[in-house]
Amino acid sequence: MFCHKKMKIEGYRLKQVQRLLYKDLIDNWDKATVLPLEMREELKESLPLKIDYKIFEDKNTKKAVINLKDNSKIETVLMEHDNKRATVCVSCQVGCPLGCLFCATGTSFKRNLEVDEILQQVLLFSRYYRKPTNIVFMGMGEPFLNYENVMQAIKILNDPNCFNIGARKISISTAGVIDGIKKFTNEDNQVNLSISLHAPNDELRRKLMPVSKGYTIKDLLEVVDDYILKTKRRVMFEYLLMKDVNDSIEHAKQLSQLMKRPLYMVNLIPYNSTGKFKRSLNTKEFKDYLEKQGIFTTQRYEFGHKIDAACGQLANRI
Ligand code: SAH
Ligand code: SF4
Repeated sequence: MFCHKKMKIEGYRLKQVQRLLYKDLIDNWDKATVLPLEMREELKESLPLKIDYKIFEDKNTKKAVINLKDNSKIETVLMEHDNKRATVCVSCQVGCPLGCLFCATGTSFKRNLEVDEILQQVLLFSRYYRKPTNIVFMGMGEPFLNYENVMQAIKILNDPNCFNIGARKISISTAGVIDGIKKFTNEDNQVNLSISLHAPNDELRRKLMPVSKGYTIKDLLEVVDDYILKTKRRVMFEYLLMKDVNDSIEHAKQLSQLMKRPLYMVNLIPYNSTGKFKRSLNTKEFKDYLEKQGIFTTQRYEFGHKIDAACGQLANRI
């Protein structure tokens, strides 16, 4: 249990405990010699610090598999871009109930993560490897189906007395949970929003992403437009390119018609194998087409294939 908010500690003692947890990054209360012995003993009971984890490494990527108290396993990934920037990809559920056809996480679902189980992932890398500068909620699970806990975790990530990671360095990716986007629009923070679109028409999107069965892309974009109107922030649309599924120039044409809106941008994602589809060979043509249409388009840099730590591959082997 790592979330200090669960404890009834206040005032200067709270500041001390926050410092010990998030700055000194202690992993054993015996090291907290600034606290009275009795309090340390209590904390050992109420706030155990040990994390049960295994690390898998591949060059600039580290994947941790964490074993939770009920024996559920979750995965989290540290991507080290350079000396200055390191991103942790955080999970928010054990599995995911949304069942997108291309995603390994979506094949099973157990439960939402607690706030401290979310924070534990960042704490682990901070303690034993490196303090991240950026956080993306793009690991296992759908953040907007665990809304309150994700928001609570973000507050602690953001808090100058805790992790002190700027809200602009934190991103949430949603598969398009409309109620969640609406709620998020009313949050008073600067956290970035990404939408997993992956198909440029309803028919195909409903096949690939069962979550989209109850609404249309038009409904989704209306909610995104409200978000942009209120926050004036850019929104990134993620588009996974799969061979002969959604990667033709006709698809690019349909996508460009949807994306010609202020503050929309597209991030093209190479498909990481989960068995069902093939990687597109058409990425360059697809990207060129979108760019010719004036759409701001980026391509996702790849991390962590060998250890199944890439997007969509989490939970492939556990
Ligand atoms: N549930 C949220 C966040 C977690 S998934 C969402 O779907 O947005 C994070 C990103 O990985 C999403 O954009 C998702 O679509 C993408 N992804 C899923 N499966 C993938 C795969 N096989 N290859 C590459 N990216 C994948
Ligand atoms: Fe869930 Fe996202 Fe995977 Fe879809 S892509 S199954 S929403 S984790």
